[in-house]
Amino acid sequence: MQPRSAEERRAELVQLYREAEVCARCPLSKTRTKVVFGSGNADADLMFVGEAPGMHEDQQGLPFVGRAGQLLTKLLEEIGMSREGVFIANVLQSRPPGNRDPQPDEIDACKPFLHRKIELIEPKVVCTLGNFSTKLLTRSQRGITGVHGRPQVHELGGRLLRVYPLFHPAAALRSTKTLEELREDFARLPALLQEPPPVPVGAVAPVVAGVGARPAEPAPPTLFD
Ligand code: URA
Repeated sequence: MQPRSAEERRAELVQLYREAEVCARCPLSKTRTKVVFGSGNADADLMFVGEAPGMHEDQQGLPFVGRAGQLLTKLLEEIGMSREGVFIANVLQSRPPGNRDPQPDEIDACKPFLHRKIELIEPKVVCTLGNFSTKLLTRSQRGITGVHGRPQVHELGGRLLRVYPLFHPAAALRSTKTLEELREDFARLPALLQEPPPVPVGAVAPVVAGVGARPAEPAPPTLFD
């Protein structure tokens, strides 16, 4: 694929937003108030993917603006980052009535939008928040309790990147233990963002100045579909 400038990628993201605004690929389009496309830096190194908009998000058309969102903002600030520097999206762009779980057909309908966002933003790390985004983007049924805090290499949006599963902030609002674990996982994010890009399996690793070749990471079984 031809490399595209940040400006070109941003223009395509705006185009994708226009498509999402009028999307009627699933029945949630009939009950939503506003489409929640996602917000933040269109050229972010770090992306967060939650589950689905709630009541406040549906009203404002912005992701994570309720209590869980306030916690997300606080956790970012604790590690010296800001909401404006990252991109925040969800598995679903429309609110499920009564905040029920996303249904498989809704996830399937919305999935192309999420993959295209990842392709256009080109993040180094995608933090999945909770079970729905983790299972979708790691292409695995392993739940968040077993996989949180451990980065996985996956091909997403046409590139190899790190998926870093985290507990959903809403779960951390309900449990002090979960909040502590989420905070510990967040503390590892700055170092994770400094890691060199993952090396494709079988490729020759780049030579790090004076150190020699860096060994390729072992591929997790879920690397490719
Ligand atoms: N929970 C989510 O998963 N996403 C939001 O945007 C808000 C709450």
